[in-house]
Amino acid sequence: MTTTIQSTRIFCIGRNYLDHVNELSNQRPAEPVIFMKPPTCLVKPGLPIQFPKHGQELQHEVEVVVQIGTAGYVKSVEEAKTFIAAITIGLDLTLRDVQSGLKQKGLPWEKAKAFENSAPIGDLLPYNDQIDLETISFGCRVNGQERQVGNTGNMLFSIPEILLAISTIWKFEIGDLIYTGTPAGVGSLNTGDEIEIYSDLTDSFSWRITD
Ligand code: MG
Repeated sequence: MTTTIQSTRIFCIGRNYLDHVNELSNQRPAEPVIFMKPPTCLVKPGLPIQFPKHGQELQHEVEVVVQIGTAGYVKSVEEAKTFIAAITIGLDLTLRDVQSGLKQKGLPWEKAKAFENSAPIGDLLPYNDQIDLETISFGCRVNGQERQVGNTGNMLFSIPEILLAISTIWKFEIGDLIYTGTPAGVGSLNTGDEIEIYSDLTDSFSWRITD
């Protein structure tokens, strides 16, 4: 059973796995790093992803994604799970060369993170409390070759902690999506590549990068 994507906001968490923080020589964050993408970035499985024209180094970041089913503010870590309606995996596609330039200048990341087709997303699976959010294995392959393997048990900030942190600033709306960060192994995508993402919770989903 799958749920339709109906979202008006996408929250993304950066630097949430220590191995990935280290591979990009970033600082370990003291609180979740939050940025956003517009919902027009979403790409359903199997649709083509056009290589963006304003950068060279397109990188994959496979992430567990949750969707909110309750409007309001999360007031505690214990309460957070009751706000989750659905779960899946997705890609936080990133133009790393563009991001590096923006970071050096202290500028916002939208050009590097929120471009067209930058949020491929798998089919949503209804969430229930039998699903353990702290033991989800997931990963991605490019042209059949393993690139990233991760487990949500290695997050610096757990999914409930992320929801609580977002709630200190924003009031959740039904349909909000949260990309929860990527493990190590981020790497380049080129025109013609096929990227497949998978987890032990969901089906696998794939996309092709086109010219
Ligand atoms: Mg990411």
